[in-house]
Amino acid sequence: MFELGTSRRIVSLVLLVVSAICLKKTIHFGPILEQGSDHKMKYPEVATFDLDYTVWPCYCDSHISPPLKPIRGSSGEVRTVVDASGYQVTIYPDIYRILADLKQNGVKLISASRTWAPDVAQQMLKTFKMSYNGSIIPLSEVFDISEWGERSKVGHIRDSLKIIYGDTNLNKRDICLFDDEGRNKEVERYGIKFVYVKDPERGATWKLYQDYLKNNK
Ligand SMILES: [Mg+2]
Repeated sequence: MFELGTSRRIVSLVLLVVSAICLKKTIHFGPILEQGSDHKMKYPEVATFDLDYTVWPCYCDSHISPPLKPIRGSSGEVRTVVDASGYQVTIYPDIYRILADLKQNGVKLISASRTWAPDVAQQMLKTFKMSYNGSIIPLSEVFDISEWGERSKVGHIRDSLKIIYGDTNLNKRDICLFDDEGRNKEVERYGIKFVYVKDPERGATWKLYQDYLKNNK
C-alpha cells in the first residue's frame, strides 16, 4: 500500500513538473515570437509623406476653399474638415496610426508637397488633429519639417535634412517617401525607398506601411 501510494505521488509529481515546464514554455514562447516578428521590422531614420492623395483624398489647390472648419470627434481628434463651400475632407483612415507609430520609434517626419496652394495645405495641417501620447496635436506639429514647391521630392528631402542634421547627404541615412505619383519613384536613384500609394480611396494604408517596414533592408 505504501509503495503504491509513493509511486502515485512520484507520478503526480512528474506530471506536475511536466505541466509546469509546458506552461512556462507556452507563456515564454509568445513574447519571443512576437519579438522575433518585431525584429524583422526596420524603421527608417526619416519618413517623408506627400500630402494630396497620400495623406488626404483631395487636391488642396483645386478642391479646397478656406476657411476650414474642424469636425471634432468624441476623442478630441479631428479627422474631417469642412471648407467654405461645405466640401468635406476626411483624412485617410490609417494615417494617424502610421504617423504615431513612426514618431514613437524616433523617426523624423517630413511632409513634402508640390501643391500650388501651400497656404491651404498648411491650414489643413493645422486643422487636422490626432491623439499622440495622451495629447491631441495638430498634424503641423506631428511633422518635423514641411517642404513646399514645384520641384523634385529629392530637393524637398535634401532641404529637410539640412535643417534636421545640418547636411544633405542622402546616402548616409535610411529615408523613405510615401507618394501617390509614380513619377516620384525617381527618388530611388538617390537611395531613397519609394512607397507607392496606389489606392485613392484609402491612401497610405497600415498594410502598405507594414509591408514596407518588413521589406526595409
Ligand atoms: Mg500626391
